[in-house]
This record gives sequence, C-alpha cells and structure tokens, in this order.
Amino acid sequence: MVVLNIMRDDNEPRASLLKKHVSPPAIGVLDLQGGVLEHLDHLQRLGINGTRVKEPPDFMNLAGLIIPGGESTCLSRLFYLYGMAETIIREFRRGMKIWGTCAGAILLAKSVVGEAPHLGLIDIEIERNSFGSQLDSFTSEAVIPHVSSQPVPLTFIRAPKIKKSGKGVDILLRMGDYIAAAESPDVLVTVFHPELTGCLAFHRYFARKCGLEPLDDTKVPAIDPTWDNKSWTRFARVSRG
Ligand code: GLN
Repeated sequence: MVVLNIMRDDNEPRASLLKKHVSPPAIGVLDLQGGVLEHLDHLQRLGINGTRVKEPPDFMNLAGLIIPGGESTCLSRLFYLYGMAETIIREFRRGMKIWGTCAGAILLAKSVVGEAPHLGLIDIEIERNSFGSQLDSFTSEAVIPHVSSQPVPLTFIRAPKIKKSGKGVDILLRMGDYIAAAESPDVLVTVFHPELTGCLAFHRYFARKCGLEPLDDTKVPAIDPTWDNKSWTRFARVSRG
C-alpha cells in the first residue's frame, strides 16, 4: 500500500506530502452558461491546465478564473442561486485573477448603465447591448500592443461598450467612443470574444497575468492556424457534423 507507506514517513512534514498530490495551478472557466468550451480549447492549446468551475469546491488551486460570454442576466441569476458570487469574491481577495469576456465583463464592472452592478471588481462603467441587437454583431481587427505585436481578430456579439474607466484601470484598446479592452492589476475585461477566433494572444496574456507559463509564440503562434470554429466540440458530447 504505497499510500500508507507515504503517510507513515514521519521524516517529511505532512503539508509537503499533501502538496505532492495537488495538480499544478489551473485556470477555471465558470461553467454555468455561455462559451465555456471555447475557452477550455484555447487554454489547452497553450498547455495550460483549464478546468470547469461549477460549484464552490471547484475553486481549489485556481490561479485565475474566466467568466465567459453568454447572457449576464442568466449568469448572474445562476451564480447567486448557487452561492458562487461570495466564493468568487473570496477567492479574488485571496489572489485569484479574473478575466471577463463580454457578459463576463458586465458581471465584473463596478457600474452598469441603468442596472445594479454585480461583482463590482473593476472600476469601469459598462452599457449592455450597446451596439443594438444580435443582428448588429460584427467582426473587426486591431493591434493591441500590450497583448500582441500583430493585428488580432475581434468578434463582437451583442456586445456591451465600456463607457468609462476609473482609477487603477489601464485601457488596452479604445475604439471610437468606447473602450473594448481594459485591465487592473487583478482583472482583465474584453467586450469581444478571442475564444471565438483562432487568437491565443489574450489567453496567453491572461495566463501570464495569473503567474502561469503558457507555451510561448515560438511553440504556438498568436493566431493558431490549426483552430477552426468547431475545435471546441472535442470537449462536448456533440457531433462535429
Ligand atoms: N448581450 C449580453 C448581455 O448583456 C452579452 C453578450 C455576450 O456575452 N456575447 O449579457
């Protein structure tokens, strides 16, 4: 019985014995609703241990958390229902970094135009559905010097606009009258969806913000040519059809 022998070795302190059996820090993806699998796909391409976070015990050993895009009203109802808001805030205070894409950014904002805010973990004012309806969704491209030296594709789906940012928030991308990407030391927000393109630059950027070491661009390029818009289906029980 290997386990018993290990537990009986009194020369080694118990904490270090336990440590050996804990897997390396992961980035969790909040798995209540929205684009969860697309983020897991990107993390795996960068050699990062990505894990689904459905309930409070899933937060063990997370260096970072991604709150995906989806529908912020739906996501917020679910995370209050499952007691996740308190856990997210507690883990954030413990040092867990957070990245919100689109609906995720709405949930993280300190101020939401015309609505009560949710987590309030980054000093931005955000306006939901600010481009119009689902039919006003669009794609674009930009160079975001902090994140990648080459232009990256941007996909906006019934996106919000970040109207203002406050103290301690750096603007990563401004487009016309709004901010599309911003960060504080502990939180990253994007109103577009890198996980719906082959762009790995943002996931690499966030992994480094979490203190992890993703594969660098000599191993996987910023725009992964092996990605296609069905790549994420390898995580799902659906046909690639
Ligand atoms: N319109 C959605 C909301 O207000 C966000 C859309 C998205 O995440 N792509 O929550």
